[in-house]
Amino acid sequence: MRAGLPEPHKYEPTLPGPVFAAHYHLPGDPTGPYTYGRDENPTWTHLERAIGELESPGDPAQTVVFASGMAAISAVALSQLRAGDAVVFPDDGYQALPLLHEQLTAYGVEVRTAPTGGDAQRKVLAGAKLLWIETPSNPGLDVCDIRALVREAHSGGALVAVDNTLATPLGQRPLALGADFSVASDTKGMTGHGDVLLGHVSTGDPALATAVRRWRKVVGAIPGPMEAWLAHRSLATLQLRHDRQCATALTLAHALRERPEVSGVRYPGLPDDPSHAVASRQMRRYGSVVSFTLPDREQAERFLDGLRLVDDATSFGGVRSTAERRGRWGGDAVPEGFVRFSVGAEDPEDLVADVLRSLDALGFTGNGAAD
Ligand SMILES: *Cc1c(COP(=O)(O)O)cnc(C)c1O
Repeated sequence: MRAGLPEPHKYEPTLPGPVFAAHYHLPGDPTGPYTYGRDENPTWTHLERAIGELESPGDPAQTVVFASGMAAISAVALSQLRAGDAVVFPDDGYQALPLLHEQLTAYGVEVRTAPTGGDAQRKVLAGAKLLWIETPSNPGLDVCDIRALVREAHSGGALVAVDNTLATPLGQRPLALGADFSVASDTKGMTGHGDVLLGHVSTGDPALATAVRRWRKVVGAIPGPMEAWLAHRSLATLQLRHDRQCATALTLAHALRERPEVSGVRYPGLPDDPSHAVASRQMRRYGSVVSFTLPDREQAERFLDGLRLVDDATSFGGVRSTAERRGRWGGDAVPEGFVRFSVGAEDPEDLVADVLRSLDALGFTGNGAAD
């Protein structure tokens, strides 16, 4: 709520407005922090402090904000990996990871992949420089044991980065679990209104932070001051939004379980979900995304069409619910009827009623076909 706010000064605003500056007054030697707008900006500084406090309360991590989640992910990968290094990615992670995979391969980096579930990445760790974890994975919602993977990776000399987008720091704190980097797309739950693209990297290691900051300067993947300010403003409601969204996600998951046309409901917060045991040891909240499968593509499309409170749209973590048939993108190993549902902050009863009404309209007869 108060994360990253400056000390109170009489007649000053609580959260200073965005600073639009390409350069700053700079007579004499350039010793201060604010010299040129690609290097530093006071609006970023407030946001970086806020996110650092959330990622690592009491011992704030250094945080570097970026223009998008992919800019943050690329900054870690490309600032740390050199030709001849090996990196381990999940094979069921975010959609753009395969593009990064291709790019790293072209630079002479060996990219190995394994599934998130069952901590399968540990089997391909030998000699790697960096382990990339995404848990819960997107969109499959498998979970791996961060502590166990960190232990194994560190014993072999590998750094560990966790994509914490889905959980947010309120759901899970990768740095406290031993990871070297916590990385996220703040486009999703962190900002939560579907109107900003942003990303961040947090790390407890000043040398790693310097390398990531240097990469931002080299590539120039910097956030606009307006986006950074909107993000900081949105953080004031992060806990409210996230608590509501996570609670409704669990309610929705239970409701979907009761439906004959719905199979494969996944939500790490369901006590008998395959991810729950590991998730409950490292997560404090289980996120706002629920996934499930309808019998086929046509029924999934009709279900999405029939929803009134839910936009058929990609992305997740926003205050307005969205859902999509994930198979339309290709690339994810999911059935044609697979739906990724991002639970928003609507009235829970209204939202569940909307979902059940749209399922009812499919006219499922229980024999595997709609009539
Ligand atoms: C959306 C997303 C990204 C990419 O973030 P952008 O802000 O779209 O660049 C990375 N990882 C995960 C898990 C995501 O959901």
